[in-house]
Amino acid sequence: MEENLLNSVIKITKNRDVDSLEYSLISTIQEFVGCTEIVVYKDLNVHTDLTIERSISLKVINGNQFEWAQRKVVDSPEPELLSCLRSACIITVQSTDGMEKRWLPISLQDKQIGAIAVVCKGLKSADQVLLNAFCRIYENYLFILHENERDQLTGLLNRQTFDKKIKQLIEKQVIKQHKTAKMDNNRKRRFSSTSWLAMLDIDHFKKINDSFGHVCGDEVLLLLAQKMRYFLRSTDLIFRFGGEEFVIVFEPTSFESIEKKMNEFMEMIRETHFPFVANMTVSIGMCRISPYDFPINVLENADKALYYAKENGRNRLCFYEQLMENNLIDSNDKSTDIDLF
Ligand code: GH3
Ligand code: MG
Ligand code: MG
Repeated sequence: MEENLLNSVIKITKNRDVDSLEYSLISTIQEFVGCTEIVVYKDLNVHTDLTIERSISLKVINGNQFEWAQRKVVDSPEPELLSCLRSACIITVQSTDGMEKRWLPISLQDKQIGAIAVVCKGLKSADQVLLNAFCRIYENYLFILHENERDQLTGLLNRQTFDKKIKQLIEKQVIKQHKTAKMDNNRKRRFSSTSWLAMLDIDHFKKINDSFGHVCGDEVLLLLAQKMRYFLRSTDLIFRFGGEEFVIVFEPTSFESIEKKMNEFMEMIRETHFPFVANMTVSIGMCRISPYDFPINVLENADKALYYAKENGRNRLCFYEQLMENNLIDSNDKSTDIDLF
């Protein structure tokens, strides 16, 4: 038992990304505590209103079949989950058939960021100790992974994480496309919207640094990052890519709605009073993310559209596909300075 336990801790701490860490955690809880359901919830906590996501879940059916479910935003979270998040205390509810549901809080740097819910048949005290210990190991390790994935100044995802996240997204799209191929036309239309990538660069940012210094420039970057987090959906991925360059990966949606959303975003930035700058603007290059794209090509396409926006007046939103259609850029055009990494 002790050797198995040690091996399971080694297995948990071998993971290098949050998704596989959570998968290991759930498998380990199932192996040692034996529950009928285990769910990891996260509070995406980027908007003023609460947004809860079910990060991953496992259900045991008829004692031997495992049903895994992936990421999904929870529309109406259970009141016990909300109490657990607010109070940072373990909440337990017992039902008359001897089953109990337990919510264990998860924190990151003293902030409640989620909870683990388990359904079991009455936990023995040794199992309760194990369950709490697994949750604490997960919490400690999550902190390390979180730090590795984030940019220190803005708290946004960093460039090193981009490659991994976009590969995961493209893999998901390929699976979805296979499923869509079997659907009727009406359902196909509903599912055929694609993901989008935006590359955003502050216009004339060097002037801010040159006039007011690097520290003031950093303050502008921080405020812009906050504005992005509040304006965009909690499920959109926002990366700080370089100094004053950001990349956003959007959930699948239509061209019309993403164009409208990004125009509203640019308007919001124009209207924001940034420190030291009277009217700050950004240029944005966008492109579709198709299931069979290589991440580097997606970046190159967005970069070409951004380059066009910069060369043609700045403070503009340009779509790669539109520029190509109108012969305004060439697909072999080498006007991109993306580094391969
Ligand atoms: P453009 O409209 O063509 O994008 O002009 P720009 O001045 O914004 O572009 P350029 O790429 O020439 O300048 C980007 C500047 O960003 C250069 C550098 O001083 C600054 N920068 C890069 N990283 C950081 C950072 O972490 N903090 C601060 N304050 N400035 C940074
Ligand atoms: Mg730049
Ligand atoms: Mg710039």
